Amino acid sequence: MRQIKLPHLPSDIEERKSDLMTDLWYKGKETQIKQDTVKVKIRMKNIVIFGAPGSGKGTQSDLMIEYYGLGHISTGDVLRNEIKKGTELGKLAASYIDGGNLIPDDLMISILAKVYDEFGRGHKGVIFDGFPRTIPQAEALKKMLDERGDKVAAMIELDVPEDELMDRLIKRGKDSGRADDNEETIKKRLVVYHSQTQPLIEWYKKEGLHHHINGSGTLERIFADIKNVIDNL
Ligand code: AMP
Repeated sequence: MRQIKLPHLPSDIEERKSDLMTDLWYKGKETQIKQDTVKVKIRMKNIVIFGAPGSGKGTQSDLMIEYYGLGHISTGDVLRNEIKKGTELGKLAASYIDGGNLIPDDLMISILAKVYDEFGRGHKGVIFDGFPRTIPQAEALKKMLDERGDKVAAMIELDVPEDELMDRLIKRGKDSGRADDNEETIKKRLVVYHSQTQPLIEWYKKEGLHHHINGSGTLERIFADIKNVIDNL
């Protein structure tokens, strides 16, 4: 077979060709990265973000929502919304929240199931922020998800020392004006956290779902640790 000999390209065209090849290589990489991200999103599951008041659950949830396209249920936000609307549920919730106490389990569980079902079927996963806060709530969450063929993929604990929690919450109270972020109520909420919520760490360890993260430091480092957990689920 006769070989067709291409004329040698002038050097500036050679250069442009090489730039073009580099561009195409980058485009290929970009597509690969996008495909990898999609794969991560498709594999995504339900995540419990866990920690004491002021541990950064809300802030890190925002980053997870943005990065993974997850749904988000903050039971505290749900309740504050009811208070703002002045509903019966809101009035009842306020009486507990203002005293730094937890809303009764049966009420919280029925609210949670309703909010979860609003995401419909086939969602990418939901972040549970502020739920569960007691062992009966964790058991109820497991049962509720099980009935729907779903499950919790990971419980991520943000661990922050007590004095840092206090400082953060007092500052948040000043910035946001949240009624329960005053020194007296914060102290009560931390006592409630230790007695009723912290035992969930052992509960989730037994379930094989617990992941510990140092919650002190920069947002970026904490989020990188969270990604490391989620990407390896
Ligand atoms: P948070 O915004 O998560 O700090 O919640 C604020 C307050 O709402 C708490 O101190 C409780 O009074 C109430 N609350 C939120 N989530 C729950 C829950 N899962 N169980 C009981 N009470 C809750």
